[in-house]
Amino acid sequence: MEKLKTEVLLPEEIDKAAQLLAEGQVVAFPTETVYGLGANALDPEAVARIFAAKGRPQDNPLIVHCTGREQVEELVREIPKEARLLMERFWPGPLTLVLPKNEVVPGEVTAGLDTVAVRVPAHPVALSLLRAVNFPLAAPSANLSGKPSPTRAEHVLRDLGGRIPAVVDGGETGFGVESTVLDCTRRPFRLLRPGGVTLEELQELVEVSLAPGHLEEGPPPSPGMKYEHYAPEAEVYLVSGPGAAAKILELSEALLRKGQKVGVMTWQERAGLYPGLTVLSMGPEGDLPGLASRLYHLLRQADDLGLEVLFVEAVSERHLGLAIMNRLRKAARGREIST
Ligand code: AMP
Ligand code: MG
Repeated sequence: MEKLKTEVLLPEEIDKAAQLLAEGQVVAFPTETVYGLGANALDPEAVARIFAAKGRPQDNPLIVHCTGREQVEELVREIPKEARLLMERFWPGPLTLVLPKNEVVPGEVTAGLDTVAVRVPAHPVALSLLRAVNFPLAAPSANLSGKPSPTRAEHVLRDLGGRIPAVVDGGETGFGVESTVLDCTRRPFRLLRPGGVTLEELQELVEVSLAPGHLEEGPPPSPGMKYEHYAPEAEVYLVSGPGAAAKILELSEALLRKGQKVGVMTWQERAGLYPGLTVLSMGPEGDLPGLASRLYHLLRQADDLGLEVLFVEAVSERHLGLAIMNRLRKAARGREIST
C-alpha cells in the first residue's frame, strides 16, 4: 500500500474531510461509540479503500451511517413498525438495525448480503460530516482488523497512520464500545452484537432474542461474529467468580518466576489485592459506563506496557456489562477461568 501522510483535522475543518470523502477517499472521524473509518457507502471503489486500509476480511459487511430516518428510507425496502419505534427512541444513538436492502446499496458494503446495517450516530462531528457530504457513510471502526477499536485519534494514528489521508480529531469518544446490532429481518428481532444500547433498554419496547454464540455449529448469523477482535499482544485470561483474586495470584506467581510481564485489569478498589502485578484500573467498582469508555484504551495500554499476560476480572453481564463481557471474551479467545 502506498504510504500516505495522514492529516489530523480539527472539527472546524469538516469541509476538508467532506471534500476528501466526495473524492472517494476514506476519512476517520469520531462517533459517540468509537472512531469510524468512513467512505461514500454508494461508491464501491471508495468502500474498497476501507477494506484495504483496515485489512478487513471482504465478507464482513459494514454499517452505513445516515443523517436520519429519511436517508435510511432511501436504502431499504421496508422498515417494520417496531423498528420505527426503536429509531424514534434510540436515534441518533448507538443502535444499528439490520434491514432488507434495496438496489441503491452496493454489494461491496453488505458483503453480498440482501440486508444492510444502518444507524444514525449521535456525535456532533459525525453528524456534521454526514450533513456536509450528503451521502451515507459506510464506516467500520477505524482500527486495523483484529485490534481493539479506537476511542482516541491517537489510537487511529497508531493503527492507520500512513494508510489513510486524514482523521478528524474530536477527542475521546463517549460510550467506548460499539453500537448494538439488531437483526430486524426476523421475528423476534435478534441481537447480533451487544453494544451501547442495552438489551434491557431494547426489551422495554420490543421482543428480542439472542443470537447463538459464534462457536456453535452452523454459519454465524452475523459475519463479524467469526472473526478475531479486540486482541492486545498479551495473552488475555478472563477470570470470574469469588476466588478470582486468589486464582490470579496463584497463576501469576509462576509466570513472574519465569520472568514474564504480568498485568491485571481490575476495579480500582481491588488494586491492593495484587501486589507485584501491573494494575490496569477499570475505575470505580461497578461503574460499567465508565469501564466501557476506557476498555479499549486499557487493552491498548497493555501493549504499551509490554505485558505478556493480562488477567482480567469478569464483570456483571447486566446493562453495558453484556457488551463489555462480549468484547473481553473475544480478547481472551476462549481463555476463561471460573472459580
Ligand atoms: P464494525 O463495523 O467493525 O463495527 O462491525 C460491524 C458489525 O455489524 C460486524 O459484526 C458485522 O458482521 C455486522 N453487520 C454489518 N452488516 C450486517 C448485515 N447486513 N447483517 C448482519 N450483520 C451485519
Ligand atoms: Mg470493528
